[in-house]
Amino acid sequence: MTLEIVQAGHPVLRNPARPITPVELSTARLQALIAGMQETMRAAPGVGLAAPQVAEGLQLVVIEDNANVPPEDAVARERRPVPFHVLVNPVLTVLDDTMVAHWEGCLSVGGFQAIVPRAHAVRIEALDEHGRPVEIRATGWYARILQHECDHLAGVLCIDRMDPRTFTTNDNFTRFQR
Ligand code: ZN
Repeated sequence: MTLEIVQAGHPVLRNPARPITPVELSTARLQALIAGMQETMRAAPGVGLAAPQVAEGLQLVVIEDNANVPPEDAVARERRPVPFHVLVNPVLTVLDDTMVAHWEGCLSVGGFQAIVPRAHAVRIEALDEHGRPVEIRATGWYARILQHECDHLAGVLCIDRMDPRTFTTNDNFTRFQR
């Protein structure tokens, strides 16, 4: 069942999300939330979804990127396929603070895009959906997704980090940026 994705202006997007306990993670409610977030992300479609975006103030993220873009775009963005995975209570560390600027959107800022600078490489320490520790090192587009989703857990939106003069509707992006 797909969940409603809340839009900018909803307070849940601006409140820091709380950590999930191992016991809570094993409950049917949390496992159903993870399944619902997976389905919602795929239906949107999107490459990442954080629990606050479905009005749950929890430190929970789902990510999946099929990198289904033209090869030249994939090269320019360092975008490679990322299989579906779940991050619980992620802690992000920047490994390479070289800032890379690309167009970025958010399912909770529906219909708009902007250029957002992001660090080139990051490390994530988190739990998976079974409560097992995971460590991820990512560069390029995957690092961008991780920064975007971890920002959601801190109540930060990409519009806080964008170059504001690049902010555009999707229609005008297609019209003027292609
Ligand atoms: Zn977002």
